[in-house]
Amino acid sequence: MSDGPASGAGLTEPAPAKVNLYLHVVGKRADGYHLLDSLVGFVAVADRLHLEPGSAAPGLTVSGPFAAAVPDDDGNLAWRAVARLAAHAGRPADIAVHLDKQLPVAAGLGGGSADAAAVLRALVRLWDFDPGDPELAAIAEALGADVPVCLAGGSRFVGGIGEDLAPGPPLAGLAVVLANPGVPLATRDVFRARTGAFSSPGRFAADPAAGPQDLIERLAALRNDLTAPAVTLCPPIGDVLAALAAAPGCRLARMSGSGPSCFGLFADAAAAARAAEGLAAAEPGWWVRAGHFL
Ligand code: ATP
Repeated sequence: MSDGPASGAGLTEPAPAKVNLYLHVVGKRADGYHLLDSLVGFVAVADRLHLEPGSAAPGLTVSGPFAAAVPDDDGNLAWRAVARLAAHAGRPADIAVHLDKQLPVAAGLGGGSADAAAVLRALVRLWDFDPGDPELAAIAEALGADVPVCLAGGSRFVGGIGEDLAPGPPLAGLAVVLANPGVPLATRDVFRARTGAFSSPGRFAADPAAGPQDLIERLAALRNDLTAPAVTLCPPIGDVLAALAAAPGCRLARMSGSGPSCFGLFADAAAAARAAEGLAAAEPGWWVRAGHFL
């Protein structure tokens, strides 16, 4: 691992945190994959990818507070994205990729998927690749269930195992606090611990004229079905949810993905910033960030 990005010409692409505003488990395929229905948005708290094409020293370097938690070889999703697109495009993978790992890992924020999607976005530009090429969507899907939505960005209802995308309601600007108790939690274990019936889809008609209060009321009627098994495996999630919900100005507190990261939606940016400061001071072992939806 190096201490920072390589110098020279290149392209820097953010890999923003993915938040599941609700997540219903609606079924299970014969191959064991769960079918989900979720509203996904992206927050301006991000990993950063720097790509230098035509590098004499191709490969991956990683820095940042969570660098030690991710592979720095071809097991990293960021590098796998380079390898897959290069193979498809019939080009050498002569790219130096630097990943500044700012997002916690195995956290329910889709960090690895966001990194892979950021690499694909950057390579589309660097290689003048057709963004509408169906093979790009196929590569995204093969890299991971959350990669297609991370590649699309914006507000999306997500169905199937992650490949079925539809536009979601406006989220841009909505103030949010992300909080993680500092314990990794494997997605696989949470799905395995889930019991009970499947939910109905929670997807609602997005009314572009409706304000954030209407959106929050709709979201409050929905759930994250993985919260109960995640809290059983990782009780500190309950403390994070309680602390967010108790913060002044918090309108909705919920777990994202399979946890353990949680988010709170706030009345405004100032309330979110105050809440993040308070939580970080009270719980120095937690990772806490204020931000807004993109
Ligand atoms: P999701 O919300 O999709 O469940 P997550 O936030 O729980 O995702 P990630 O942070 O993407 O999970 O990490 C999942 C696993 O992928 C980790 O065990 C990690 O070792 C591996 N991994 C490979 N590449 C990366 C990467 N670039 N960033 C993070 N994790 C990576």
